[in-house]
Amino acid sequence: MYNPSSRKATEFIDHQEILDTLAYADENCENVELIDSIIAKAKERKGLSHREASVLLACPIPEKNEEIYKLAEQIKKDFYGNRIVMFAPLYLSNYCINGCTYCPYHMKNKHIPRKKLTQDEIRREVIALQDMGHKRLALEAGEDPQNNPIEYILESIKTIYSIQHKNGAIRRVNVNIAATTVENYRKLKEAGIGTYILFQETYHKESYLELHPTGPKHDYDYHTEAMDRAMEGGIDDVGLGVLFGLDKYRYEFAGLLMHAEHLEAVFGVGPHTISVPRLKNADDIDASSFKNGIDDDTFAKIVACIRVAVPYTGMIISTRENQACRERVLHLGISQISGGSRTSVGGYAEPEPEDESSEQFDVSDTRTLDEVVKWLMDLGYIPSFCTACYREGRTGDRFMALCKSQQIQNCCHPNALLTLKEYLMDYASPETKKIGDALIEREIENVPNPKARETLVKHLKEIENNEGRDFRF
Ligand code: SF4
Ligand code: SF4
Repeated sequence: MYNPSSRKATEFIDHQEILDTLAYADENCENVELIDSIIAKAKERKGLSHREASVLLACPIPEKNEEIYKLAEQIKKDFYGNRIVMFAPLYLSNYCINGCTYCPYHMKNKHIPRKKLTQDEIRREVIALQDMGHKRLALEAGEDPQNNPIEYILESIKTIYSIQHKNGAIRRVNVNIAATTVENYRKLKEAGIGTYILFQETYHKESYLELHPTGPKHDYDYHTEAMDRAMEGGIDDVGLGVLFGLDKYRYEFAGLLMHAEHLEAVFGVGPHTISVPRLKNADDIDASSFKNGIDDDTFAKIVACIRVAVPYTGMIISTRENQACRERVLHLGISQISGGSRTSVGGYAEPEPEDESSEQFDVSDTRTLDEVVKWLMDLGYIPSFCTACYREGRTGDRFMALCKSQQIQNCCHPNALLTLKEYLMDYASPETKKIGDALIEREIENVPNPKARETLVKHLKEIENNEGRDFRF
């Protein structure tokens, strides 16, 4: 029985409710009156239910789809302006005891090199990431209580935060590790993590059980209820995601929004971010052998529909996607992207030899961070290395309050410019620096509050004169 407030996975992600939602969307996908009313509701920026958003996703009418894209673009502009937050993944270990059929780290893969970074190796990787200009990391590790116990993850986080190298510092560590206990989530919180990220992979329970035939991850309910335990452990920024290509995308889309509604109903705060990875080729994984792959048009429609359904939730796209695809969806709602990423264990400090590759998936966008930063600015975006909310303790509902109070332009915008200025001073190529300095000059005018503008100009000068770093609003 569907109940968004239930703590049971199969009740807040109720299979029958998803089937009924898809049937409702099929019946109404050309119901112009209903579609208009849903679009009108979305225009109020209050979000949509999974049923309403599913109707928009199913809608085949070109003019209505145009309206949906335009609205997604407008909401993106209103809430996130032209800022794109940058991050990089850091793979700590690819030891894993699970049997996920779509990931090369599955336990039966005997030929992929298994690696686990020592604290010294982590130090070297982090210095290499700092030298690129990164300030925000997403830690990744397989599930293996022997090789990657929680103590190892905690020690690694401590190491990462402790490294001060030139003007570099990692200021926010997000963590993507397997579903765990409330107690371990509490330890992660105490270690100062930003967002806890866990992809559901698929919300379709039957498929989930087949795709995860062995290992602890086989337990659908435990996995699906992980965010509840994370929130109980005090982590109030959680990141959802599905791996598009595993099951039917409309099913996943409805499940994803139901999960967000569940967190809102139980904890009063929805997910901090939603990631939209698509299945990719990797070591012993052939993406074409999965039947539910989605094309670029469908992918763009999903991004737009998520944007209008949950306007306050950040949306992340990784280097799984190529430059063209990233460019296409950026303006439809993406607020964070990775750049200069390595999806292997190690590889930032020293590239891995090809025959020893430990990559989790093939990276489609292989440009350097500097190239990505320049590309974003050429497209009119402000690459932002901001981590201010986390550092000011604005998480969960306090972060939502910031979004809802419309103070973003007086807060995120100057923070983006300050952190971009740091990047330009410390890491950028001369050409990127030139473009960036001109962009900052133009964008100062877009801070509405005169006092904030004045403070911004003062701090920009201080960064320019090397009189300080890490200013924030
Ligand atoms: S997806 Fe995660 S849990 Fe599954 S095999 Fe890969 S690393 Fe392990
Ligand atoms: S001020 Fe907060 S919400 Fe805005 S970009 Fe920085 S961290 Fe994100």
